Amino acid sequence: RFISFEGIDGAGKSTHIQAVADWFRARGDDVQLSREPGGTPLAETLRDIVLKQPMGSLTELLLMFAGRRDHVETVIRPALAAGRTLLCDRFTDASFAYQGGGRGLPLTVLEPLADWVQEGTEPELTLWFDLPPAQAAARRAGAREADRIEQQDLDFFERVRAAYAARAAKAPRRIVRVDASGTVEQVGRAVLAVLSERYPP
Ligand code: C5P
Repeated sequence: RFISFEGIDGAGKSTHIQAVADWFRARGDDVQLSREPGGTPLAETLRDIVLKQPMGSLTELLLMFAGRRDHVETVIRPALAAGRTLLCDRFTDASFAYQGGGRGLPLTVLEPLADWVQEGTEPELTLWFDLPPAQAAARRAGAREADRIEQQDLDFFERVRAAYAARAAKAPRRIVRVDASGTVEQVGRAVLAVLSERYPP
């Protein structure tokens, strides 16, 4: 199975992916972790470029999708074909949120590109860690050096959040919102509640 994790920077998704991996491993699943941007040598090189060099929004989008195509072909599909549980830190929803909501690229550009690059490869569940951008910024402060995109202002992250909300409204079964404003323990409990409901023993 394919599960993705989404949310604005500082929402805590990376922390909870580890707990989700442990949860599936305890059930006997063969768990594989990956991330975007990145996940393959080529896509990690593109990640480095995208996060460091200034560039236009459409260029950024195309590089994200170029990396995603390589990731889908060489990592995600083989993992699913082998019966593994693939947990991915960000996937296409992040492009709708960041390059769509944040940068203002239209759905008429994003939707065909997503269809073309994914060719039906889609997460069955997406955990969207949602919290107010101001709170996320406070968590990020001092955590690690901010990349080019994390240096955007609160308005940018408000647009990213709104785009995640719009995506979730269109795919309410796949995208489950997790209130990420609580403590790590509270959010962790909310995540496990979603998993137990979705994957009964
Ligand atoms: O999740 P992670 O911290 O690895 O993401 C790296 C950076 O890339 C973050 O600043 C994130 O906001 C940004 N990003 C983006 N567009 C995407 C995916 C990630 O701008 N489609």
